[in-house]
Amino acid sequence: MMSVICVVASLAHIAFLSLLVSAGATSLAWVNVGSVFLYGLAYVLVQRRVLVWALNLIAGEIFLHGVLASWTLGLEAGFQFYILLIIPVGMLTDFMRLRLRALTALAAGVVYMALDYWLKGHQPPHPLAAQTAQGLYYFNLAVTLVILGFLAFIYQRLVGQAQARLQHLACTDPLTQLHNRRFVMDVAHREAAIFARSGQPLALIVADVDHFKRINDEHGHEVGDAVLTAIAAVLRTEVREVDHVARWGGEEFLVLLPGTSEREAQVVADRLRRAIEQIRPSADCGPGGLSMTLGMSVLQPGETIAQALARADKALYQGKQSGRNRVILASPA
Ligand code: GH3
Ligand code: MG
Ligand code: MG
Repeated sequence: MMSVICVVASLAHIAFLSLLVSAGATSLAWVNVGSVFLYGLAYVLVQRRVLVWALNLIAGEIFLHGVLASWTLGLEAGFQFYILLIIPVGMLTDFMRLRLRALTALAAGVVYMALDYWLKGHQPPHPLAAQTAQGLYYFNLAVTLVILGFLAFIYQRLVGQAQARLQHLACTDPLTQLHNRRFVMDVAHREAAIFARSGQPLALIVADVDHFKRINDEHGHEVGDAVLTAIAAVLRTEVREVDHVARWGGEEFLVLLPGTSEREAQVVADRLRRAIEQIRPSADCGPGGLSMTLGMSVLQPGETIAQALARADKALYQGKQSGRNRVILASPA
């Protein structure tokens, strides 16, 4: 964004050169040449990521040029408006300390008011023809408003991006990139409400990797992490778009299957179990011979999500007890 500002500002200053020369304000025209040079320098600084100095240079240029042009041509030319731009530009930059930004914004506001107070009725050394001054006034006002609108748009976009990123972080498990426990619990409660209203069934599967501790012990924690990531990817690809797969904790996963009957859910659970068995050893997903035990329950009328989960968990425990690598349907509530 700062590079664009530098290029646009340079071009605008070049465009103003001829107008200033024709108005006889040659000293101000020279200032414009200096400004083009400063924006060129700021552009180079932005490319080299020396952002604080680039911003200081831009803010300083707007500041001094606004004061000089207002004094030389009078407030009627409307160059003082650009000084106001320092307030949002300064506040939008997060690489400067807040106190410094606030101070810059305050200085811009004070200078603007001082100019307005002192230059009212002041006879400028290069007064412009009334029509030229009026045209310039509205042109400068329009440019300032367009830039303010553009800055508001940029700000809104930055806030939107930051919000989306926070939301993603709050809902996602950093290792597997699956939904996390918090997110999937919200979904489960929403699905339970749909079940209560419309009777659309909800199946829950709690899946736990068998003998996972051995993988960590024999191959190291990093291989263990790779195995979890590979399992997560397999689980995600084996279910429908509308289903939810989440990392429930450690080497446990929770799968929610909305609109799925007990019989259908059993088919899905067994498909998941077989897909995990099919994972072959590789650099990406560690040793083969993986398996999972899955406990499954279907939400019953009047039952809470916590109760259905407890039943699935109990079924999982039974699966572990009876030899692992199997799907166990929870006994009814
Ligand atoms: P079982 O078949 O009874 O489930 O045996 P298990 O070894 O899978 O179960 P246990 O609860 O004994 O061990 C789970 C292991 O999972 C222990 C823990 O260190 C490991 N673990 C939990 N989270 C992570 C993780 O994020 N990365 C890695 N690498 N290991 C993890
Ligand atoms: Mg476990
Ligand atoms: Mg386990």
